[in-house]
Amino acid sequence: MRIINLSSGSDGNLTFIQSDNVKLLLDDGLSCQETVKRLDVIGVKPSEIDGIIVSHEHSDHIKGIDLFSSKFDVPVYAHQDVWSGLDDKLKRVSVKCRKIFDGRFDFKDILITPVEVPHDVKCYGFSFSQNDRKISVVTDLGHMTDKIIDSISKSQLVYLEANYDRDMLFRGTKYPLSLKRRIDGPNGHLSNSNSAEAIEKLVASGTRQIVLSHLSKENNTPALAFNYITQTIERDGIKEGEDVRIDVATTSIGSFFRLK
Ligand SMILES: [Zn+2]
Ligand SMILES: [Zn+2]
Repeated sequence: MRIINLSSGSDGNLTFIQSDNVKLLLDDGLSCQETVKRLDVIGVKPSEIDGIIVSHEHSDHIKGIDLFSSKFDVPVYAHQDVWSGLDDKLKRVSVKCRKIFDGRFDFKDILITPVEVPHDVKCYGFSFSQNDRKISVVTDLGHMTDKIIDSISKSQLVYLEANYDRDMLFRGTKYPLSLKRRIDGPNGHLSNSNSAEAIEKLVASGTRQIVLSHLSKENNTPALAFNYITQTIERDGIKEGEDVRIDVATTSIGSFFRLK
């Protein structure tokens, strides 16, 4: 299995996941044209995509899906509770391309396990497993829960949200206080500090690779997230580079991670 971040953050999320038999997109918050362009960079044709898995209805996760699915006849998979918010937004997706799941399901040689995450709309994180290999992607959650940790534990690799630095969020002048409170609230996004706490639990479960994801453009920077989180976990005895490797996903195409 391999995974590559094609874009991560509030400007648009797009992740590519591949096994021997399957090529998938997780969310597509870029334009259709930009999606095609980025797939071309990694040598993948749109017609090769077997499906798009959707986490939730926010536009930074679905912007490109309507056109991409209808143009290239690619099926769109979402939890039944998420579809109620997608129906109006993905009008061009044909009836035969609307795929509904309500629990874990096999996608050829990959087992996909959804786990609900606390956000201001119905939202799911996912684990992708094959034999003893497991990759998880969890973003857009206001807080971490034991149930989520349980579901994604023992993943070798986790894409985990590190959306905002709390000081930067509350000191910033661009957002109204109500929005700041929403982001920081239990159904908003995961802060660097929340993320560090979750990483400690994941490392204890055997995770050796974390990719910090969905960073806010206004309230975080890749260097700040990386430094804050590595220093926090180091105080608790977890060393980046030895016990766990931490990378940061940005709006640019990232490096491949391959699980053998
Ligand atoms: Zn988002
Ligand atoms: Zn969201």
